[in-house]
Amino acid sequence: MMALSKTMIGERLSTEVAESDLVQQALEAIRKHRGMEAAYLSEFVDGKAVFRCVDAPGMTHVIDVGDAHLLEETYCTHILEGRLPDLIPDTSKNRHARSMAITETLQIGSHIAIPVKRRNGEPYGMVCCLSQSPHDSLNPRDLETMRMFAELVSRQVNREIEERSEQELKANSVRSILKGSEFSIAYQPIVDLKTMMTAGFEALCRFEPLPYRPPDAWFRDAMAAGLGRDLELAVLGKALEFIDKAPADLFLTLNVSPETVSSGRLADLLTGTPLERLVLELTEHTPVDDYSALRDTLAPLIAGGVRIAVDDAGAGYSSFRHILQLRPDIIKLDINLTRHVDNDPGRRALTTGIMSYAHETGAMVIAEGIETVREKSTLKALGVEMGQGYLLGYPGELPDAESMAA
Ligand code: C2E
Ligand code: MG
Ligand code: MG
Repeated sequence: MMALSKTMIGERLSTEVAESDLVQQALEAIRKHRGMEAAYLSEFVDGKAVFRCVDAPGMTHVIDVGDAHLLEETYCTHILEGRLPDLIPDTSKNRHARSMAITETLQIGSHIAIPVKRRNGEPYGMVCCLSQSPHDSLNPRDLETMRMFAELVSRQVNREIEERSEQELKANSVRSILKGSEFSIAYQPIVDLKTMMTAGFEALCRFEPLPYRPPDAWFRDAMAAGLGRDLELAVLGKALEFIDKAPADLFLTLNVSPETVSSGRLADLLTGTPLERLVLELTEHTPVDDYSALRDTLAPLIAGGVRIAVDDAGAGYSSFRHILQLRPDIIKLDINLTRHVDNDPGRRALTTGIMSYAHETGAMVIAEGIETVREKSTLKALGVEMGQGYLLGYPGELPDAESMAA
């Protein structure tokens, strides 16, 4: 047999691989079913067949992920157009297969192929299985078995295509929000529960596109599209208008993800802002891999006077690990701890525990989502210093400076 050389194979492209465990496992099953040497999923792109996923342990020098061949030089088009059968037990017995250069290049002795279609019926590519030697016993039952696995592959491919196009739509919406600054800031008062005076405000973003979606949904989409930091920084820039509009003794809390803090771009944005008036509320929406790096990035801001709050304490995903690692100046009790705290011993016990931790570490506690007088009174009795919620003030436009100073 002729030695296979890398120069004889098609171009190797970098690809967005439809590579999932499921596709990989299906290809392995297809290949092993009749002891073949290679199974792969190809996608048709710009007149080429690109290998998206490959299971070919001994043949990766000729069939590898990203390899691309002109479609007319592969079996694919010929099978789809009926010049080659989908099952070829011995290529040397098929005149058309024999005449094709790729038969020799890849040393194809036997070949089975099943087309993979997109949901709209257009061809996506093919699932193929081949061996360098003939397999005379390959029969229509093998083709049927392969069709079953190819169906699995096809479903997975279509799921991935849909996910990608959904992602792309979301990314475009976020880009258009960024381009047109289609958002505003609502400020919600944070009230000292002893004096009932407003001590500061939390900046909460409101996105304009309709139908209304909560801000965390937009930030999630932006993160998934790789635009989370850009969006957060743009929103923070707008929220900082507060500093010139509100009396100097009022603080501003800003929601910011650990990802944005770690990017290092926050410090530039905050240059020239009186840092002692700022509180950064960190939520653990995604796990933090490296707390010491996060603390290092925060250190100069903290030295300048910024305070750190851990948001949503006591919520399902906001772990106490986050509190332990960040040693915040402020702990914000999640709305779910506040709700019915007046008649739920479990919530009261958890709040008491957090209060005790806060006293030990010198942190202040702010309760979120206070809606009733009884919730407020209970939290105050438990020692919670500050509160926020519809009972105390809705998020909205900043009051005029005079009434805030009053
Ligand atoms: P969060 O930071 O925990 O904000 C508190 C949420 O509770 C806000 O929802 C607020 O409107 C709502 N809330 C306040 N008081 C009450 C109350 O008494 N009852 C009830 N039921 N809800 C109350 P919102 O504005 O929809 O924000 C949801 C989340 O979106 C925020 O949770 C925060 O994680 C995120 N978010 C909002 N604005 C920003 C932003 O500018 N940047 C970032 N990174 N995240 C933001
Ligand atoms: Mg918050
Ligand atoms: Mg919260």
